[in-house]
Amino acid sequence: MLDNAPNRPELPPEIARRRTFAIISHPDAGKTTLTEKFLLFGGAIQMAGQVRAKGEARRTRSDFMAMEKDRGISVSASAMSFDFKTFRFNLVDTPGHSDFSEDTYRTLTAVDAAVMVIDGAKGVESQTQKLFEVCRMRDLPILTFCNKMDRESRDTFDIIDEIQENLAIDVTPASWPIGVGRDFVGCYDMLRDRLELMDRADRNRVAESIQIDGLDDPKLADHVPAHLLEKLREEVEMARELLPPMDHAAMLEGSLTPIWFGSAINSFGVKELMDGIATYGPEPQIQSAEPRQILPEEKTVSGFVFKVQANMDPKHRDRVAFVRLASGHFHRGMKLTHVRSKKPMAISNPVLFLASDRELAEEAWAGDIIGIPNHGQLRIGDTLTEGEAIRVTGIPSFAPELLQGVRAGDPLKAKHLEKALMQFAEEGAAKVFKPAIGSGFVVGVVGQLQFEVLASRIELEYSLPVRFEQSQFTSARWVNGARQAVDKFVEANKQHIGYDHDGDVVYLTRLQWDIDRVVRDYPDVRLTATKEMM
Ligand code: GDP
Repeated sequence: MLDNAPNRPELPPEIARRRTFAIISHPDAGKTTLTEKFLLFGGAIQMAGQVRAKGEARRTRSDFMAMEKDRGISVSASAMSFDFKTFRFNLVDTPGHSDFSEDTYRTLTAVDAAVMVIDGAKGVESQTQKLFEVCRMRDLPILTFCNKMDRESRDTFDIIDEIQENLAIDVTPASWPIGVGRDFVGCYDMLRDRLELMDRADRNRVAESIQIDGLDDPKLADHVPAHLLEKLREEVEMARELLPPMDHAAMLEGSLTPIWFGSAINSFGVKELMDGIATYGPEPQIQSAEPRQILPEEKTVSGFVFKVQANMDPKHRDRVAFVRLASGHFHRGMKLTHVRSKKPMAISNPVLFLASDRELAEEAWAGDIIGIPNHGQLRIGDTLTEGEAIRVTGIPSFAPELLQGVRAGDPLKAKHLEKALMQFAEEGAAKVFKPAIGSGFVVGVVGQLQFEVLASRIELEYSLPVRFEQSQFTSARWVNGARQAVDKFVEANKQHIGYDHDGDVVYLTRLQWDIDRVVRDYPDVRLTATKEMM
């Protein structure tokens, strides 16, 4: 089939047809609109407009809270599956707010590729840049969609240059826009030599596609005004001279991104992008793990938890663990081993997130995302297998950048608070440290907004008003080393010691000086800002 991994055997067709990806973008670039059109053309929804209130890409706090209240919906939008032609697309939603970078990072461990959406007038914006850096750390292949071409946008070469320079990635045009703003008529498909014309009258209609025979085809003049046609010919000629051609291998390595131009709201360019994902997007990839990596085509099933969402239904305190299947063919009712606890788990009611509905997953394949309802056994980073003790690697837990103390409004409710905090810690929504001396908890997050979200969730889900307050500590580091060395260190530094929700030792401080001192005085222990989840 495709030259996805030249030295690897062909995957079973059910696995080979899967494309698991995320969309990265700056707020407002059009991620929600594009998602909606994906679902529309994937046949998953009947009418555009149904996804609007969903997704986690909320920009304001109030939007986020409203969405939180309606968790059933937001969760089904965290992973969506739909078919496109002969392909199965799994779209994993990345949280949109910059305060959720850790969550985003973990989400990106569950996908094989990313679609980067940029606004044609704004180019590469800050959040796009950040998310791109995360993709780069994992060498994820990137497909780019330049949106809002129906509006006044920048010069095409400028946009491409900006991406190449700011993101240090080669860009190859998969399509070329014809006209800008009100004069925008459509695109020339550089990969398939076709003319795609935008229909401004019906936003949900797919563009008219006209097969042409190169840019000298006289048919072009029937559809494109003369002055635009002349410009198109010039620009395409220049682009072919100056920009790299499509190179599938380079794309899969993450060093080249093809760019499509379009207008999501007008459904324009979306199908071409979907075709691009199908044709060039990677098949389910090999998963790094210890003591050996996992190949998607292996007969036995394995998967890992990359996200946990609790209290989807406040009445039932249930949790859903989102599992990316790394190998095999999964059937409902299968018994899988929870590697961390070595216990078997019967997966009797797994959920597949088909567009806006949750459905029981009767079967699933490597590359798919399934939701497993559980009572807290499944944690981020956990691996499930058919018995083998393999542990998926590369899902980090970052040291929080902001620490605050937390107290229940009612001191008698301290136990309840502890329970709520532990749950959020397991969900990965915050770090919770219990100081070795004194009472209370220290909560750590990566962005200020998360404190507010947490306070609101604790109040909403546990009817527990809480107060966050300044903590005497500002930094946390995990303490690693041989048992004896760590114990000795803990004994000598009690006032700085805390324990995370797994019981692992952390060093809490306000001063970089303290950290430097530990490095100097305790050569046998190591302080780290990340801890690999296990
Ligand atoms: P998100 O924040 O990235 O999810 O962005 P949305 O999909 O919510 O879009 C942000 C705004 O841009 C909304 O008002 C959309 O209607 C609008 N929008 C999305 N796509 C297009 C497009 O192709 N052209 C124009 N003119 N507006 C668009």
